[in-house]
Amino acid sequence: MPVAPQVHKIDQNYFILCSNTLEIKGKLIGELSVAHDITREQTMFMAMVQSSSVASLLVIMIISGAIAFYISRSLRPLRQVSRMTEVISVSDLGKAQLYFQNAPSEVKELAQTCNQMLMRLSESWEKERQFVSNISHELRTPLTIVHGYLQSVLRRRQNLTETQIEGLETAALEAENTIQMLEDLLELARADSGYLHYKMQPCVLNDLVAEIVGMANQHSDRQIVIQAEANPIEVKLDYQYMKQILLNLIDNAVKYSDDGTPITLKLKQQGTQAIMQVCDRGYGIPLQQQSRVFERFYRVDEARNRAGGTGLGLSIVKTLVEGMGGNITVRSKLEEGSVFQVVFPVFS
Ligand code: ADP
Repeated sequence: MPVAPQVHKIDQNYFILCSNTLEIKGKLIGELSVAHDITREQTMFMAMVQSSSVASLLVIMIISGAIAFYISRSLRPLRQVSRMTEVISVSDLGKAQLYFQNAPSEVKELAQTCNQMLMRLSESWEKERQFVSNISHELRTPLTIVHGYLQSVLRRRQNLTETQIEGLETAALEAENTIQMLEDLLELARADSGYLHYKMQPCVLNDLVAEIVGMANQHSDRQIVIQAEANPIEVKLDYQYMKQILLNLIDNAVKYSDDGTPITLKLKQQGTQAIMQVCDRGYGIPLQQQSRVFERFYRVDEARNRAGGTGLGLSIVKTLVEGMGGNITVRSKLEEGSVFQVVFPVFS
């Protein structure tokens, strides 16, 4: 019975063994088996298989490392693009440029396209800003004239009926609100284009707060209380703009709270920070809308805002505070009240 060649391991040695029948002239005369010792060849073969698998593993590891390094090196500029685009704001759209020296050509092309897009965005933002500024300017003059006429007609009210007086008063109020909105828009446009100049000078906040609260108390029958530390707190800022900021916050506190509820202006120093808080016990602002009240034209609840207002006051306040190196935040609870906090570094 023929046996195909097979390798057998006997003790520590390897043999190749095969056998076949032996026939001479068609006559079966026996069986021939051959065994050959291949221990040396087999050991060499196994050593070769082992070393080539180690070598292939090493080659695979080196190639994978090289690919990972190449991919991370190619993606580095993209990470840079994402970091840069994260910090680009409306004000520096025109100046923002992405530039890569050692990047693949595809990434350089992407950066170029991004730069062109930033340029187009900057141009259209500039056009929009210019348009708002022109419109506000063009509308303010005729509206001021209309408002003047309405006021002079209202002064001669003895010739008018009750209904006419009511209509004229509504028209005059709406004209006044619109003029205020146009002035706010002009101020924001000036701030956006960097035309607001802050006359920064050291001033004692305690005096400024006392003066503003005095002014506010004269114009409204709501009592505003000051809670301030005795030691004077000195801060470097523009006196007029700071007045505008506090008057705006006090005006809001009066508008968005019921008559008879207290309004407090707190002033304190914490380390190197001067902290001013305008606190009311009014309607409050829902948590999810608190970060949005500083956006342009954002108003929390139209029904509550019938008192008048444009939704621009707080965005002007924020622009002015940040323009003078401070920051403003709000903490509020619905139906309990709000605290608008303005912080400036103390002048030393
Ligand atoms: P407005 O001209 O409407 O007062 P602002 O920019 O000053 O515009 O305020 C934006 C919105 O934030 C207001 O419409 C109001 O809903 C809300 N808000 C501002 N201040 C207060 C406050 N002290 N209490 C409750 N809500 C406020």
